[in-house]
Amino acid sequence: MNHLNTKCLIIGSGPAGYTAALYTSRANIEPVLYEGHQPGGQLTITTEVENFPGYPEGTTGTQLMDDIRRQAIKFGADVRSGIISKVDFSQRPFKAITDDNTEITADTIIISTGASAKFLGLPDEQKYMGLGVSACATCDGFFYRKKRVAVVGGGDTACEEALYLSNIASDVFLIVRKDHLRASKVMQRRVLDKPNIKVLFNTNTTGLYGEEFLEGIHLVENVGTENEQHFDLPVDGFFLAIGHKPNTDIFKDFIELDETGYIKTKGHTTATNVEGVFAAGDVADPHYRQAITAAGSGCRAALDVERFLSEQ
Ligand code: NDP
Repeated sequence: MNHLNTKCLIIGSGPAGYTAALYTSRANIEPVLYEGHQPGGQLTITTEVENFPGYPEGTTGTQLMDDIRRQAIKFGADVRSGIISKVDFSQRPFKAITDDNTEITADTIIISTGASAKFLGLPDEQKYMGLGVSACATCDGFFYRKKRVAVVGGGDTACEEALYLSNIASDVFLIVRKDHLRASKVMQRRVLDKPNIKVLFNTNTTGLYGEEFLEGIHLVENVGTENEQHFDLPVDGFFLAIGHKPNTDIFKDFIELDETGYIKTKGHTTATNVEGVFAAGDVADPHYRQAITAAGSGCRAALDVERFLSEQ
């Protein structure tokens, strides 16, 4: 087994992890960052990014992540591809094991493993990813100006996405598997009052179709009843909003999580319940989930690490 010791181990890439690496490397902390399953995080599965400040012409998610990554490396961050598969935060220095069997000891940890959008599990979801399928209306909604889109889900996220899209697209279809919405009453009211949002209750998506790009979805209404009805709905965009799963499985024995698995942080800081372990980005944020807010919390985590180390 190889060994590696660092003052700060950053687990996970994406805007939070890379920004934390940028700040800690500029503070001479010499961080080591493991990029994880999806280097660059969720942004790399979106198309264009037009709402990250500093890019007046827009950029792509992949380019944006590559830019921040290079900026961190320029100041000395040790960015490694690989996955942290196990951690032990029971004592300091903390321990982490990588998938290629390197044991890392670290004085501080920044967890920035993000959250993954849940998918329906349809075979074609990945095929049309970025070609009509998206898991983020604020990222991709703009590309569906005056077009027809569908959002699947019945919670607050789905309602929020549907409302956001209703100001851009011509028609929004909200596909809800039950006969009611799970979202808060106020969100339900807003959705039901919006003339260009049509809610399809008791409806499930069974497939997607289209030549190069998505052209529509296969639906079934009242599945398993005598009124079961199959039909197709032509749409240009299909937005998944059935929830996110924070990537916290390997931390759950040590780090306090909320009831949906997000890391709990203390007050306005990025500190977790374990002193010396900090969390940044979507892994600790079920609410905002934007690249810029994740980058901001990566910066905060780096400053928290810096303070923690200088106090030790
Ligand atoms: P939720 O878990 O609340 O809702 C998920 C929705 O997706 C449910 O309607 C669920 O249906 C549906 N769903 C799940 N799996 C499938 C599937 N396989 N096929 C079809 N539909 C499916 O997730 P959200 O992301 O909406 O919200 C997460 C948390 O964040 C909530 O606590 C929410 O209140 C909060 N939030 C708050 C916001 C705000 O206050 N502005 C904005 C966004 C989120 P079913 O009901 O049948 O289970």
